[in-house]
Amino acid sequence: MSFTLHGIPVSSGIAIGHAHLVSHTTLEVAHYTLPKHRVEEEVTRFAAALETTRQELSALHANRPQYAGAEFDAFLDLHLMILADDHISQAPREMILREHCNAEWALKVQMDELVEQFDAFEDAYLRERKTDVVQVVGRLLKTLTGQPGHVPPAPGHDDNMILVAHDLSPADLIQFKPHQFAAFITDLGGATSHTAIIARGLNTPCVVGLLHARQLMREHDLLIVDGRQGVIIVNPDKQVLAEYKLRQSQLDLERQKLRRLRTARANTLDGTHVELHANIEMPHDLAEVNANGATGIGLFRSEFLFLNRDDLPDEEEQFEAYCAVAEGMKGLPVTIRTFDLGADKQLNHTKRVASNPALGLRAIRLSLAEPQLFRIQLRALLRASHYGNVKILVPMLSSLSEINQTLQFIDHVKKELDEEGIAYNRNVPVGGMIEIPAAALALNVFTKKLDFLSIGTNDLIQYTLAIDRTDEEVAHLYDPLHPAVLHLLAHVIAGANKAGVPVSVCGEMAGELAYTRLLLGLGLRQFSMHPSQLLGIKQRVLTTSLPEIASLTQKILRADDPLKIRELLEKLNAQ
Ligand code: PEP
Ligand code: MG
Repeated sequence: MSFTLHGIPVSSGIAIGHAHLVSHTTLEVAHYTLPKHRVEEEVTRFAAALETTRQELSALHANRPQYAGAEFDAFLDLHLMILADDHISQAPREMILREHCNAEWALKVQMDELVEQFDAFEDAYLRERKTDVVQVVGRLLKTLTGQPGHVPPAPGHDDNMILVAHDLSPADLIQFKPHQFAAFITDLGGATSHTAIIARGLNTPCVVGLLHARQLMREHDLLIVDGRQGVIIVNPDKQVLAEYKLRQSQLDLERQKLRRLRTARANTLDGTHVELHANIEMPHDLAEVNANGATGIGLFRSEFLFLNRDDLPDEEEQFEAYCAVAEGMKGLPVTIRTFDLGADKQLNHTKRVASNPALGLRAIRLSLAEPQLFRIQLRALLRASHYGNVKILVPMLSSLSEINQTLQFIDHVKKELDEEGIAYNRNVPVGGMIEIPAAALALNVFTKKLDFLSIGTNDLIQYTLAIDRTDEEVAHLYDPLHPAVLHLLAHVIAGANKAGVPVSVCGEMAGELAYTRLLLGLGLRQFSMHPSQLLGIKQRVLTTSLPEIASLTQKILRADDPLKIRELLEKLNAQ
């Protein structure tokens, strides 16, 4: 029987293949009482399982496969930390001794308590970390019950196998990779889970949060996985299968064709050059940046160096990371944003939960409030500027006083380096992100004081429309085409161009084909996006004539009816 399931799209592409169901990791455990003389034995059994699990995770750490990114290390550190947490390592032991219950039960009860604490977090990212707790306990339970983990199929298996799991930890995902599954699908998981992050990095279609997929499917069922829409079609009929095969080969063909554009110069039909840069989170993202022919890094989100860890990256560690990117880009511009911590990107040790984190001590506000942290980063950035074409980008600036304080701070750190005789680029450009409506409206202050600007549309839209970008309940109101957003964009691009200050867009809008022509029409000549989006955008640039889109762009700006705006945009994109 054919049926369709809907989940959360995590990693795009279409896969067609047969289901391979891996062992269940739902945590259903037996509960029994032990005779008094067996309690010590049970405690020893628990301790042995704990140690075996710790060794398994450490071994994964030591033998990290090459294709696994640095986030894999961070995730393993997190899992080792959870394993060592008293709730998991101590409390079950005490419960066995106190209540004479079996180890599996004690562990499950303690896990439920811990998960409840995670459920109470307001922050969506932290809430999702309960998945990591469940995964660690799942691994420990498997050791206790003597069950093997997910067993990868033997080499030489059908290449078009689709892995179906109730839940899949990032460790499982990494172990499966050498077997080249065509797609991954799971019942559990959210869009920001570690598993989702790693699947995206592996460039394999992935849909999570399907709830009961594993129960509803049988081994070897034929599946279509549409990673872009988050749709799974089980045992499709011939017509649907033919349709998806066609879409799949079209996508492959498009991807292949796009690859040919890697070295092409991004010029519009009328010969205007457009810079297409890449957004990265970690230095190892450079491979993808080069594979897609980016002509610079438009946004290095340096705060990712600070996340998922209990310590802070020191000056040397930061210097090496910035230097690796600066040198790796061989003279092309590398725009490194000072840490945008706070809001949904909190340091591990931050205890304080702000009542309104997106409006709180975030980004440059936090940097100025924590001068020692900021100083270390600026030292590392300035030192790296000696080894490549580094630019410093400051997030979330809102006023002249913040700009002045930041520039003074940078001057102060420069003097410090001078005194120590350390080399750096004295003219390192300093730019500001335009992501608060106040910054867009007071643009003159920014163009006068800064060397370049970068529009963070993700936040600019959030703050203009008063919509929390992490809250799924208001996600439908998040509208890049809202007239207020378009007017702010037009104002900033035109104002910066007039003042001769380079301006780019580095928010998600820059990587969405639907908006490329509109942004070009508004005068934008520099885009920065996820590397995988770059060649598609380049193709759109190559097929756009600026004189031809001018009048429709102005019509869109004058329109105030959302339907009319969408209708005009479609026309613009069909030209
Ligand atoms: C933005 O706000 O558009 C942006 C690029 O920054 P981030 O998404 O990291 O907040
Ligand atoms: Mg932002």
